[in-house]
Amino acid sequence: MNALDLILTGKRALVTGGSRGVGAATVRLLAEAGADVGISYHSRSAEADRVVNEARAMGVNSWAEGGDLADRAAVDRLFSRVDREFGSLDIFVGNAGIWPVADVPLAEMDDARWQRTIAVNLDSIFFTTREALRRMSSDGRVILVSSTAGQRGEAYHADYAATKGAMISMVKGLCVEVGGRAITVNAVAPGWIDTEMSQDALGSEDRARIEADIPIGRVATAEDVAGPIVLLCSPLARHITGEILNVNGGAVLVG
Ligand code: NAP
Repeated sequence: MNALDLILTGKRALVTGGSRGVGAATVRLLAEAGADVGISYHSRSAEADRVVNEARAMGVNSWAEGGDLADRAAVDRLFSRVDREFGSLDIFVGNAGIWPVADVPLAEMDDARWQRTIAVNLDSIFFTTREALRRMSSDGRVILVSSTAGQRGEAYHADYAATKGAMISMVKGLCVEVGGRAITVNAVAPGWIDTEMSQDALGSEDRARIEADIPIGRVATAEDVAGPIVLLCSPLARHITGEILNVNGGAVLVG
C-alpha cells in the first residue's frame, strides 16, 4: 500500500443526500480522488445540479436523481439509474437523513413524527443498502452516516437517536455477512456539523454552549466529516470493517 491508494479512478460511487452538507462535500472529494459519482437528493434539484457540475468539472462521470428515499418506488428509480449509468457499484455512502429540530419528550411525541423519522432515516437505509449490495461484487465499500446520538442517545430526539443506533447495529451484523466478498461496512458517527440541518440549533448563543462541550472546541465542517468517509472508501482502509468511526472532535466521550 502507498499514498496512491487514495486515488479512486475507475471506481463507481453512489452518495445519498449528495446535494448539500456532508453528502455534497463527500461527492466533491470522491470526484477529486477520481471516482465517478452518482448522487441522490430529495427535492433541491438546483443544489444537486451544482454538485454534479462541480464533479464533472473534475473529469468524472456524475449524475443526480431526485426522490424521497423513504418511498420504495423512488429507491427503485434511483437504482435503475445506477444500472443505466454505472452497471455496478464499488462504493455506497448512505448519508441522506433528517433531524427534526423540535425538542419533544417521548411521552409527547406523536406517531407522525416517529414514523417519518424512522422512514426517512432507517427504512431508506434498508432499501438503499440492500440495492447497493446487490450491485457490488468484491472489494466494495459501504459507509453509513450515523451520529453520536446513535451511541449515547439524544434526549427529546428519541426518534432520531433510535434510527442512528439501529444503523450501528446494522453495520455490525452486515460486515460479517459480506466480509467473504471483501466488502467492508462501516459507520461514521459525527457530532454537531455546520450544515443546514443544524442551523436552527446552532443559533449564536447555543453555538458557544455547544462548542464549549466539544474537546476540539468547535463544531465540524462538512469537509471534516467527508474526509474520513472517503478514507474508508479507499484501499488504505481495506482491513477496517464493522467500525464506528467517531468524527466528532471527541464529543462522544464527554457530556
Ligand atoms: P443536510 O445538510 O440537511 O442535507 C440533507 C441531505 O439529505 C440533502 O441532500 C437532502 O436532499 C437529503 N434528504 C433529506 N431528506 C431526504 C429524503 N426524504 N429522501 C432523500 N433525500 C433526503 O444534512 P447534513 O447535515 O449534511 O447530514 C448528513 C448526515 O449526517 C445525516 O444522516 C445526518 O443525520 C448526519 N448527521 C448530521 C449532523 C449535523 O449536525 N448536521 C450531526 C450528526 C449526524 P435535498 O437537498 O433535496 O433536501
